[in-house]
Amino acid sequence: MKVLVIGGGAREHALCRALSLDPEVTSLHCAPGNAGIASVAQVHPVDQLDGRAVADLAVELGAEFVVVGPEAPLVAGVADAVRERGIPVFGPGAEAAQLEGSKAFAKDVMAAAGVPTARSYVCTTPEEVAEALDAFGAPYVVKDDGLAAGKGVVVTDDLQAAVDHAAACDRVVIEEYLDGPEVSLFAVTDGTTVVPLSPAQDFKRVGDDDAGPNTGGMGAYSPLPWADPKLVEEVLDTVLQPTVDELRRRGTPFSGLLYAGLAITSRGVRVIEFNARFGDPETQVVLARLRTPLCGLLHAAATGHLADFPELRWRDGAAVTVVVASEGYPAAPVSGDPILGLAEAEAEDGTAYVLHAGTRLADDGETVLSAGGRVLSVTATGSDLTQARDRAYAAVDKITLRGSHHRGDIALKAAQAE
Ligand code: AMP
Repeated sequence: MKVLVIGGGAREHALCRALSLDPEVTSLHCAPGNAGIASVAQVHPVDQLDGRAVADLAVELGAEFVVVGPEAPLVAGVADAVRERGIPVFGPGAEAAQLEGSKAFAKDVMAAAGVPTARSYVCTTPEEVAEALDAFGAPYVVKDDGLAAGKGVVVTDDLQAAVDHAAACDRVVIEEYLDGPEVSLFAVTDGTTVVPLSPAQDFKRVGDDDAGPNTGGMGAYSPLPWADPKLVEEVLDTVLQPTVDELRRRGTPFSGLLYAGLAITSRGVRVIEFNARFGDPETQVVLARLRTPLCGLLHAAATGHLADFPELRWRDGAAVTVVVASEGYPAAPVSGDPILGLAEAEAEDGTAYVLHAGTRLADDGETVLSAGGRVLSVTATGSDLTQARDRAYAAVDKITLRGSHHRGDIALKAAQAE
């Protein structure tokens, strides 16, 4: 099968890597891709938010299957535009992608489907904001209603900071604070059947011990040795299946990747947010352990055949990914510096490898340059989290990028509790 992946981050590098290992994939393309993706797929320039341009490229390449990675093209209707040309797409249409594109829409779907989530108010005026903040008390949780690349949420004890964030957004969702550890659970769905993947945990704050501002994600690990073995089944029954059923009932079936961001609170599992695509960096660790060939799974979802799909197979052991970020990330990332040691970081036996996020090739066609905030996702597998961590950090240590930074405590607590 000839496959085209849309996107250019470490998630898409992980998707391309897994697709390239699937014998069913005879030809792999990615647009726009990055310097690392270019080693496993043929890359093409494209404006990924332009549905017509993406569909034209898919037709021109003779792509038989398109996988859309990031949320912005999905919310912009890129999957619809490709589907209109008769090419199967993994990823929801614009209407179903509102599950991620609008926090207020997601809350409405959850209420209708009886899915447990934080109590919330949608506010558009300073009076409504003041009332909602007062009703819930500290810590305050204020979320920009629209897409904000994981940076639209402020959680704070400082009332003024909460008010200021709300004032900077058109419409906000203000909700009760959820305590307890967070879990990311992905599910592949064709709009009817839901197949959950292995749970993962990501690290949103920039610094060790969760210090500093939120980012797109600084690392992840999977599986979760501390989680209740029944967690996945419970979330399937109380969250994933009811949400997919509700969207189908509304006439906007969701096919693609449904990502539930969950809090395991003292009062049970609650949904923090939904995303309409694979999470980054959790995808890097989930796909590192998936043995089932990826193309067949995603294609079955895109074509409505998930009910007949064989049970997923997983590698034993664990996976860890550590994000190497550029100087100044997340506030003001510095780009354009050479990255050294990339080849040295790759383990010969495949247990450690480097997925590229914000990178590009220099004019010499060889030197890899940083080109964004999150630059690399250094990923490793092992028999347990401790070994996977050790391998990931050994690989990170071989890489040089001036001014770069990474967290030192990815999967540390979970490994100690193993
Ligand atoms: P979101 O973009 O909705 O995933 O929010 C980003 C991060 O903010 C989450 O991963 C949580 O760490 C935090 N957060 C969001 N909503 C809540 C909540 N209701 N209570 C506590 N923390 C939250």
